[in-house]
Amino acid sequence: MTSKALATALVACALGAAACGATANGASVGSAQDGGSVSPAQDTAADFASPAKEAGTNSAPLSAPLAESPAAGKDIQAKALSGKVVVIDPGHNGGNYRDTAAINKKVNVLTQWKACDTTGTSTNDNYSEAAFTWDVSQRLAKILKSRGATVKLTRANNTSVGPCITQRAAIGNKAKADAAISIHADGAPSADHGFHVIMPKKIDGPVDPVVGASKRLGIDVRNAFRSGTGIPYSTYIGSKALDYRSDLGGLNLSTVPKIFIECGNMRNAKEAAEFRQPAFRQKIALSLANGLQSYLK
Ligand SMILES: [Zn+2]
Repeated sequence: MTSKALATALVACALGAAACGATANGASVGSAQDGGSVSPAQDTAADFASPAKEAGTNSAPLSAPLAESPAAGKDIQAKALSGKVVVIDPGHNGGNYRDTAAINKKVNVLTQWKACDTTGTSTNDNYSEAAFTWDVSQRLAKILKSRGATVKLTRANNTSVGPCITQRAAIGNKAKADAAISIHADGAPSADHGFHVIMPKKIDGPVDPVVGASKRLGIDVRNAFRSGTGIPYSTYIGSKALDYRSDLGGLNLSTVPKIFIECGNMRNAKEAAEFRQPAFRQKIALSLANGLQSYLK
């Protein structure tokens, strides 16, 4: 390593960039940025260290999207989100099916009482929505942190139960997030396809003051997701991939700008095949990061 390269690396480390792998394998980096409650750094490192494990035959093209950016580009990006707090809610949880009593417990989402959470959907060949949202969220967190953001997740792994949708909203509120996003994929009839963003409506409740900001966030994420992933607008919900709802606890109870995204339809063969590819999930994460950044800058 030349002295210039070393200096560049040290600058990157000082900025908390993800390039500092040697310091990111313990609680120090992860817990500092995550506020201590969620520290997925170890899981993240493992996931990114061997992205080919889920698709061995596709290992060659996967290295490119996961590789670090050139140092100069990274320095510019690292400043882009410094001082910003982003809360990522990976929809559902891989262990939800094991505790139906806890998951079915009714919680108050202001406009109605709903189940604490659900198991989520899956592809026809059993790739679960919870696993998909967990993986995309890990990738998104890594990108946002590399751009200087403080990132907090609403769950720490994909093997436990919950939290309830009310708690997922509370985590974003407590963090005073500049933006919050709940990541999902849909389980619609197989002929349906495409993605959509869900934004809150005014409900004469706590979300009302951030309905306008959430709409701006939603439009920025919609635009970045469409151009970055190539996934079309939903053929079955919303208008130009924009939908507004007052029945979601994760939105009704949010006091920070927040949206949901349904990244596509897991029951549609084409989108299911795309979601199974780690390189495509990286493309999704990058698109979400760019959409969040458009809103936050
Ligand atoms: Zn979902």
